[in-house]
Amino acid sequence: MAEDFTVTPYQVTGEIDYDELVERFGTKKIDNALLRRLSKYGEIHHMLRRKIVYSHRDFDWILNEYDKGNKFVLYTGRGPSGPVHIGHLMPWAFTKYLQDLFDVKLYFQMTDDEKFMFYDKLSMDDTRKWGYENALDVIAMGFKKGKTKIFLDTELIKTMYPLAIRAAKKINFSTVKAVFGFDNSYNIGSIFFTSIQSVPAFLESYFQKKKVPCLIPCGIDQDPHFRITRDIAEGLDYYKPALIHAKLMPSLMGSEKMSTSKGDMTIWTTDSPKTVKRKIGNAFTGGAVSVEEQKKHGGKPEICSVFNYNQYFFLPDDKALDDLMQKCRSGAIMCGECKAALAERVIEFLQRHQERREKAKDILEDFMLRD
Ligand code: SF4
Repeated sequence: MAEDFTVTPYQVTGEIDYDELVERFGTKKIDNALLRRLSKYGEIHHMLRRKIVYSHRDFDWILNEYDKGNKFVLYTGRGPSGPVHIGHLMPWAFTKYLQDLFDVKLYFQMTDDEKFMFYDKLSMDDTRKWGYENALDVIAMGFKKGKTKIFLDTELIKTMYPLAIRAAKKINFSTVKAVFGFDNSYNIGSIFFTSIQSVPAFLESYFQKKKVPCLIPCGIDQDPHFRITRDIAEGLDYYKPALIHAKLMPSLMGSEKMSTSKGDMTIWTTDSPKTVKRKIGNAFTGGAVSVEEQKKHGGKPEICSVFNYNQYFFLPDDKALDDLMQKCRSGAIMCGECKAALAERVIEFLQRHQERREKAKDILEDFMLRD
């Protein structure tokens, strides 16, 4: 029997069975019919083709509304508790794809209040500082200026608070406990926080004074927040936000989610080429115990973190990925060569990202949403 697992916005443990998670959460898988429909608008992203972005709530309804001329807005975010790593960029890259495909506005929420309330070691100065640091990474991803609004909760609070308390009035303590697994030891800010996370789903409707559809691309671990948002939305006279869910990018240690706390096996966006080479050099692979064994029997890409990195992010070309899989399985490529090739791809990506991140410092204010 598979090991049991837990997935909430605050805890991810065990080996995640993503099919079972769809059942547990009550979401829908993205099927081929939905992909065919999406192909009318443009190329299907490799994360959709590979079922890395694999689940949704009402994404078909978003397309129906779009076809009727009722454009949606995107909403995603980041908990700014430290620097950004490659795993964070994955859903952002997919969000950018959606912004480009549909030419829509994006609200990007920095939950600096959340990280302050959940992490004893972080002061408000810390979380605000990380909010601005992380905003540079968001801008570096190439989101559209004029259509991308980034904000820190503690700064946009004058606009958000009336919406947040309207949401809060409809959420019971028992719901929050059941959905997030909180007990009585949690501070009351943590308990209130989900009402703040609901607000960006309604911001465009609030500004336009009419109901505007909202699509939330996110890691599936964030779904519990938005189940609550969806439950209260119609009672506030807004549309339920739709969601499109990605699997969580595994770490270099293996199948576990890439984590901020495992610094040495996590590639930060600010890492130097030397550091990237070292981290990838130490990655968990599906290689055999010796070169001779691997030449004879091949490797196991399905359990390999290096293969996962290529699959999730760094090798979007399906043929190139398939070639790598065949070579690995047949023993035609050894792990050293394979790791070196990935390191080159990551270094090239990060060099471009770091340049754009530097330039973002001059245009940051163009992206910030203020009260
Ligand atoms: Fe992983 Fe590459 Fe080794 Fe295959 S050859 S097990 S894909 S590192």
